[in-house]
Amino acid sequence: MISVILNKGKEKAILQKHPWVFSGALQALKTKPQNGELVKVLSHKQEFLAYGYFNDESRVAIRLLSWEEDHLPDEAWWRLRLQNAVEARKELLNDDTNTCRLVFSEADYLPGLIADCYGDYLALQILTTGVESMKPVILDELQKLTKAKGIFDKGDAAARAHDGLQATEGLLYGVLPPDFVEVKENGIKYHINIVEGQKSGFYCDQRDNRKIVAAYAKGKNVLDCFSYSGGFSLNALANGAASVVSVDSSALAIETLKKNILLNGFDASKSTSIQNDVNKQLRIFKEENQKFDVIILDPPKYAPSRSALDRAARAYKDLNRLSMHILTKGGLLATFSCSGAVDIDTFKQIIAWAALDAGKQVQIIHQFNQPEDHPIRTSFPEGEYLKGLLCRVF
Ligand code: SAH
Repeated sequence: MISVILNKGKEKAILQKHPWVFSGALQALKTKPQNGELVKVLSHKQEFLAYGYFNDESRVAIRLLSWEEDHLPDEAWWRLRLQNAVEARKELLNDDTNTCRLVFSEADYLPGLIADCYGDYLALQILTTGVESMKPVILDELQKLTKAKGIFDKGDAAARAHDGLQATEGLLYGVLPPDFVEVKENGIKYHINIVEGQKSGFYCDQRDNRKIVAAYAKGKNVLDCFSYSGGFSLNALANGAASVVSVDSSALAIETLKKNILLNGFDASKSTSIQNDVNKQLRIFKEENQKFDVIILDPPKYAPSRSALDRAARAYKDLNRLSMHILTKGGLLATFSCSGAVDIDTFKQIIAWAALDAGKQVQIIHQFNQPEDHPIRTSFPEGEYLKGLLCRVF
């Protein structure tokens, strides 16, 4: 195995079990490993530090897997890690919920691998060349652990490109999932289009938050912005909302949402779905003087990196300001950000600015997080991305 030596003083993060080594930390290579090859990382004093997958096409030159010299990340190591990840979700999957994230990349000590479970089917994202080489083992072990009927590749094109990988998509194992796979989350049924849907088909990271928000929806007029297939809308209807308006720019999202309302046997007359840009639609509501008691804002990632932070902050502020204008007095705003670059303190600041601009007073009554199947590894704070605030607006 090729050894890669660090520059002096660059071992601190590795000793703290951070899983990334940037190219600038490496001494000039005597023998260049292949991309995706397993390498040994040594300190400048030639002491063993960790094993990881090398890739000089990526900003992260090495993704670390194991910090113990006698724990080589071989096939048995991979199988054990996958078993640990799936085992950790056992309590989460039950009669009411059969969809969750089974493997969350670095947070599950498996950098570059994401696996989502949708009932009898799995959606896989392999984001690095190193993980790509373990694909047969991953498929075999996941199939054994979950008894999945089919495993589908949902390779995220943008993330794979960072590692010099082509976009992929297709059946990896078993049978192709039907156009709409029926799953359950907290007792609510969803049709999920794994092949055509966004991300790997569903945003299971909002499972707990949908339930928390729905508890405030009884008898209320709810506006669910960026509704996708209706996660927040359906929970609100299940909890006795008087009406729910759902807005999303995607036709497929709206079509799926309508299917999901019927699938659950909810009263369709209480639901209105609008295919439009949320910012435009909020302005229309304001002009029409239409008010809501509860508004949910769950936009896509506005800040893909730190450099996009300023622009993203303005976009979050505008969105929240507009929403505050169309809330009834004392109404609730459940506002989220899934941008890792926006931390909770920054997000609170943005909401405070939005409140000032809107001329409103805001109380934060709850903070939302990402759920247990999206753990935050203490040695990898970059894995924390989803946050939200439940605000009472006066
Ligand atoms: N709340 C959803 C997940 C939202 S994901 C749930 O619980 O499942 C973000 C959604 O925003 C996607 O469905 C995407 O189609 C939609 N979207 C992105 N930009 C938008 C825009 N400018 N206006 C309206 N919808 C938008």
